[in-house]
Amino acid sequence: MTNVNVDNFSSAAQSGSQFVLAPLPYANNALEPVISANTLSFHYAKHHNTYVTNLNNLVAGTELAGQSLEQIIRATAGQTDKASIFNNAAQVWNHMFYWLSLKPNGGGEPPAALKQKIEAAFGSVDACKKALATAAVTQFGSGWAWLVLDGDKVSIAKTSNADSPLTKNIRPLLTIDVWEHAYYLDYQNRRPDYVNTILEKLINWDFAAANLG
Ligand code: MN
Repeated sequence: MTNVNVDNFSSAAQSGSQFVLAPLPYANNALEPVISANTLSFHYAKHHNTYVTNLNNLVAGTELAGQSLEQIIRATAGQTDKASIFNNAAQVWNHMFYWLSLKPNGGGEPPAALKQKIEAAFGSVDACKKALATAAVTQFGSGWAWLVLDGDKVSIAKTSNADSPLTKNIRPLLTIDVWEHAYYLDYQNRRPDYVNTILEKLINWDFAAANLG
């Protein structure tokens, strides 16, 4: 697929009125040795898939059936009686976005337009990576670290559990999953090693650049 970005990627989760497990953009072993095939297959085929199954069960027969992931996320954010629907919809969205935020032979230098915005906000690409790593490492418990576009400025966000910058109308550019299931089989408690290694070797700057819109 070409021109996949934050505005269109989630349509791969939808087939008619049902949500489906969208294909991984690479093979289970494509991110080795940084993320093992074992981790990736559990994470995708068990964790991600469970959110899809739960979401279908929760929205069946409700006014949310047939709506897009983004519509469901925005319609249920902050509503305690719809927390399960929000959590599962947001986790489907977040995981699809995470798979696209990584790629085999990633890392390196961002494309020029993104690099310019990163340097304007952080001074350097290294400083941006350090800020993203700090957000990922200091997110207490389960959650996500994000590179985002807030207005015209690139910045960093972190969210707990299933939460997403989407609910604050901030545009995600990249994400790192810091739930333990994302790294525990490979790194055990060493979250900083997982985060720093994916920033060096897997982060997909091309996807982030495509998300500038
Ligand atoms: Mn996950």
